[in-house]
Amino acid sequence: MDDAIIDFLRQLIAFKSVSSDKNQANESRKTAEFIQVKLEEIGFHSKIVSNEEKDKNPLVFGKFGDDRNKKTILFYSHYDVQPAEIEDGWDTDPFVLTSKGDEYVYGRGTDDDKGPITATIFALSELLQENNDFPVNVRILYEGEEESSSGGFEETVLKNKDFFGQVDGIMILDTSWFTDGQPSLDYGFRGITYLAVEIEGPSSDQHSGMVGGVIREPLIDLIYLMSRFVDLNGKVLIDRFYDKVNPITNDEKELYKNLEFSLQEFKDTVGVSRLLNENATESLMNMWRNPCLSIHGIEGAFSASGAKTVVPGKVIGKVSMRLVPNQDPEEITDLFIQFTEKEFEKLDSPNKLSISPLGSGDWWFGDVNNFLFTAGKAALEEYWKISPSFARSGGSIPIIPFMEKTFNAPAIGVGIGQPSDGAHGQNERIRIKNLVGGKEVIKLTLKNISADV
Ligand SMILES: [Zn+2]
Repeated sequence: MDDAIIDFLRQLIAFKSVSSDKNQANESRKTAEFIQVKLEEIGFHSKIVSNEEKDKNPLVFGKFGDDRNKKTILFYSHYDVQPAEIEDGWDTDPFVLTSKGDEYVYGRGTDDDKGPITATIFALSELLQENNDFPVNVRILYEGEEESSSGGFEETVLKNKDFFGQVDGIMILDTSWFTDGQPSLDYGFRGITYLAVEIEGPSSDQHSGMVGGVIREPLIDLIYLMSRFVDLNGKVLIDRFYDKVNPITNDEKELYKNLEFSLQEFKDTVGVSRLLNENATESLMNMWRNPCLSIHGIEGAFSASGAKTVVPGKVIGKVSMRLVPNQDPEEITDLFIQFTEKEFEKLDSPNKLSISPLGSGDWWFGDVNNFLFTAGKAALEEYWKISPSFARSGGSIPIIPFMEKTFNAPAIGVGIGQPSDGAHGQNERIRIKNLVGGKEVIKLTLKNISADV
C-alpha cells in the first residue's frame, strides 16, 4: 500500500466539510486550507478564494507553469461532501478513514471527491519530482459547494477568471467508472429544468363533509393537469418538447457498442420487474441522450398515514424535465408554461393556476474525438489494459458547460472510483487500486497530452 497517499486521504476525510450544514463552515475552510498548503508544498502557487455568495464555502485555486509551448489543463473537483452520520447505517465513523481488510478504504468523500483530489495532487507531485520537463501547465479549481448546487461558483470564477489565463482543456474529476470492471471517460450530462405548478382554490383548507361535491377541488385539478404531461410509455406530451432533440448519428451509436450494460442488473438495483423499454441500448439512450419528465411530489396535499378528510386549499405539484442537446432549458420552461396554461384553460376551473420555475441547468455534450479523450483513452488502456467506455450520465452538472464557455475550452470527465462505491450513501469507499491507478492515469494522460498522442 502506498502509505503517503493513504495518509493524505485520511487527513482529508477527517474534515467534516459538509456543505449543506452551515455549522460545519469552519471545517470546510480548514479543508480548503489543508489542500492549499499541500499544493504550495508540492510546488504550486495556490490561494484560497472567498465565495462571492455570502456564507458559502471558499474555493481553492492553484497554478503551475506558464509555458506558451505547452497546453494548459484545468482540474476541477469539489472538496465538500454529502452529510454522513454513523446512525445513518455506517459500519464505522464516516469521518475516519477505515480499512476493513478488503481492497477498499471507507469514509465520506473517499469516492466523491476527496479520493480524486488526492489522486490528482499525488500525480502532480510525482510528475514534479521526476527530473524531466513537466508536460503541461496546470490550473486547479476546487470548490466547496458542489453538493449544495455549487452556490456562488459561477460568480466567483467569473470574477477571478484572470488567475487561470488561457486554458486548453478541462479535466472534471467528479464521476466514476461506468461499471466496477470497466474504466470510463465521460462525455455528457443532461440538463434540467424544475417547475412548481400551483393551484389555489378556497382561501383555507376545508372539510370534505362540507365542500365535497360542492366546489372544484384544487388537488383534483392538479392531478388532471399533471396526468397530461407525460404518457405511460414515458413520452413527454408538452407541445414541441422534442423539436430540438439532436437525432442520433452513426458515430454516436458506435459509442454504445463498447458498454457492458446488463438490463437485469439494472432492474435488480432499482428493484423493478420491467422497464419502459426492454432493449439494453435503448434503455441507456433513454437514460443519457433522451429527455424525460418526472413528477416528484405535491406540496400541501395530505400525505401522512391515516384517513384525514381534508380538502387542501392550495396544492403545488413539483415537476422536472431532464434535457439533452440542443434543448434550451429556458425555451423548454416557456413551452411547459404555455402547455400547462392551455391545458388548465380546458379544465374550465374557478381555481387559480400559477407556475414558478425553481431552477434550471444546461446539458453538457463533449467531443470524444478531441485531444483530451485521445490522451485519456490511451492512458487508461496503457495502465488498466482494458479498453475504456465512453459514457454519459442521466444526471446534471451544469458547471461543466459553464466552464467550457467561460474558458473557451473542451471538458472531459475522468472517473476514478467505481459505481458501487456508494458516493452519496452509507459506507462510501474507494478501492486502493483505483486511487493509485487514478493517480497513474492522470500522470499518463498529461504526458500523452504533451506528446500529442
Ligand atoms: Zn461529486
